[in-house]
Order: sequence, then structure tokens, then C-alpha cells
Amino acid sequence: MTPNWLERGLPHVWRPYTQMATANAPLPVVRTEGCRIYLADGRVLIDGLASWWTACHGYNHPVIRAEVVDQLSTLPHVMFGGLAHEPGYRLAAALAAALPGDLSHVFYSDSGSVAVEVALKIAVQYWQSHGRPERHRFLAFRGGYHGDTFLAMSVCDPEEGMHRRFSGTVPPQDILHLPEDPESTAALARHLELHGHELAAVIVEPLLQGAGGMRVHSVECLRTLTELCRAHGLLVIYDEIATGFGRTGSMFACQQAQLVPDLICLSKALTGGTLPMAATVATKAVFQAFWSERSDQALMHGPTFMGNPLAARAALASLGLFEDGVRLGAVPQIAEQLRAELGPLVGRPGIKAVRVLGAMGAVELERLDDLEGLRRSFVEAGVWIRPLGKVVYLMPSLTITPEELGTLTAAIRRVLTA
Ligand SMILES: *Cc1c(COP(=O)(O)O)cnc(C)c1O
Repeated sequence: MTPNWLERGLPHVWRPYTQMATANAPLPVVRTEGCRIYLADGRVLIDGLASWWTACHGYNHPVIRAEVVDQLSTLPHVMFGGLAHEPGYRLAAALAAALPGDLSHVFYSDSGSVAVEVALKIAVQYWQSHGRPERHRFLAFRGGYHGDTFLAMSVCDPEEGMHRRFSGTVPPQDILHLPEDPESTAALARHLELHGHELAAVIVEPLLQGAGGMRVHSVECLRTLTELCRAHGLLVIYDEIATGFGRTGSMFACQQAQLVPDLICLSKALTGGTLPMAATVATKAVFQAFWSERSDQALMHGPTFMGNPLAARAALASLGLFEDGVRLGAVPQIAEQLRAELGPLVGRPGIKAVRVLGAMGAVELERLDDLEGLRRSFVEAGVWIRPLGKVVYLMPSLTITPEELGTLTAAIRRVLTA
């Protein structure tokens, strides 16, 4: 039953967020197509997670595949220092055109965490070049998640995140509650009065805090925190690594609030879930702070595989697939179906809350004792769903059919009420 390659590789692969001593073996996948994952033993799972929220057009989209194959035959990779290639330069122009306001200077990397690191580094260097090196700490929020590297970890929620494990190693930052009510708004205002002059930037996932538990906040909350931080001179960083490319119903979540940050981080669905790529995009004013005769005022970063042509070509193809409006047009219907089919769980025993925003539906449990058992039940029900803490959620491909989505929500209702 277990394929030979799995048996031979299993003792050698160290898996993510996994206690290797107790974890079940991973499921061998032989093929993906649309919203389906085909297992080696012939079973087929409907995917509720779009592979960590990346495969926004479903798997194996023929347009992306054709573009990547074409790129592979001419220029799979070349270094980005001193050399230029068409996909990388066309993509930067396309992102500048797709993003709101004057977010127009694109720095490439290969993962979301690094895109966040780069945004934080840009903020520190920005204040250095403005003669304010003491502005180097960051403001972030409870419930937030921004990645697994050290500075990114430092701006994650200190309770849920990995702070405790690395305390003493992760630099301390200012982590506050989102200003969702008068009390938390006053606390944020007070904190900024006292410490605003020491802070380089604020970082937030606009409207939807993803990995921290699929928590939703309002446009007003985002507006309040953005305006308060701006009033104290902080740069505003929106981490749209999860929310970007249609997830919340608009191309970028910040567009629903008509807000433009100073820096935006993109990754996850950037290449339609095909190849690793991330981007940190700055406004003209931020970019201008680095414009100088002095070489030591240049942005000090440069990942080896930055701007990879295969990934850039995939990202261009993915952006093209949004152009006819069909993808974004599908989101309200997905949201409506999620509300109709997960909503009835409200008030059931053990269910704390149901939240829907765009193509994200989450069910928060009072508690979760048997994570492995829950995971197994979902696979037995023919669906691929992995709870985040006490939150069972769906972030499917935006191409998911009503029937496929119905299978996912029915599995959640059945498993959670069993
Ligand atoms: C996934 C994620 C990251 C980290 O991205 P990686 O590619 O896993 O490093 C950062 N911020 C947000 C909001 C994310 O969802």
C-alpha cells in the first residue's frame, strides 16, 4: 500500500510543525487536478485548503502550466543581480498596475516570511536615512501571524506564536489588541502617545488574521489603526500574504477600506500556488528614502533565487486569470454558500463561533482534544481539511464548484456534530 519512495524517504524527511515521534505518516499524493487531490491508494480528496491557501485557480491550471513549460524551455533561472529577464520585469510592472495607490517598487523574494523580513528591514533603513535610527521597534497585534523567521516571529501573537519557545532570542516588539472597541482604541492611542516616536512601523493582516485563528476585523478597525499609526509617523505595512489575490472578495483586502499602506507583502497565491515567490512592494515615498549617492544607503537584501523567471511567469499567468473578473465574481457566491451551510452550526454544543469572510469559512470550537482523530475523520469523509488550533476552516480554490464546496461543508457539519 505504501509506495516505495515514501517508505525509503520517510526516515529522512523532517516535516513542518510535526512531532516526528508521534505523527502519522503523511498521505502519498500522486496527482492533483482542480480542487482534487489523488492519493496513491486510489482515494480522492476534495481540497478545502488550496494547499496552504495558494492554489486560487485550482491545481494544474492549463494556462499557468503552458506559460511555465514555455519558460522552462528558454530561461528557467538566471541571477537577478546585474541581469534582467522579461518575466521578472513585466511582473513588477503588472503588480504596480494591479496594486492600489502608488505601491510601485517591487522587491522579490521566495517566501512570505522573507517578504515580511524585507518590509521590516526597509522600515528600519527608512528611518536611518531620515536621521531617526531610534525608530526601530515594531507595533503588531494579538492574533497576528507574519511568518517563521526571527524578525517575522517577533511580530506574531506572543501567546499563540513561537515567542515563548524562543524568548530571549526573538527581539521584543509592542504587541497590542486590535482597536475593535473604545477601550482597545484608547489603549492603542495611549501607547502611541508614549512610544510612537520609537516605532518604525506597524504591521497587520488587513481584515483577516489567518494563521492566528481566522479572526475577522472590520474595515473601521483597520481604518482606525492605520490613521492612529500614521498620525504618529509610523510606516504602515499590510501583510496581504494570505488575503491578497481575491481571498476576501477584492483583489487586495485593503481595497475594501480604500486604504493604501506604505509597504505591502505578497506571496501565497501570487503564482496561483505553483511556484514559490514573494514580493515586498513599497510606495514611491518609501523608495525615495533609499535614493542617494551613497551605496551604503541601498536596500541591503538579495535572495539567491529572487525573481525566478519560472515563478514570475506563473505569477503573470495567474494575474491574467483574474482579468475577466470571473474569479472575484465567484467570491460572493462562495461566501453565501459558506454562510448558509456553516451558519447552522452556531449554537450547537461545542461550537464557539462561525466566521465567514469572502472565500474563507471558519468554525471555532470550544476545545479540541483529539486533533489526530479529527484529521482522520475528515480524510475518511473524503475531504482535505486541517484544523488550526481550535479552528476548523475552509480556504478553497476560488474555482471550487458548489457541489465540491457542499461536500466540504457537509463533512464539517457531520464530523463536528458527531
Ligand atoms: C503564510 C503567511 C506568512 C509566511 O509565509 P511563508 O511563505 O510561509 O514564509 C506570512 N504572513 C501571512 C499573513 C501568512 O499567511
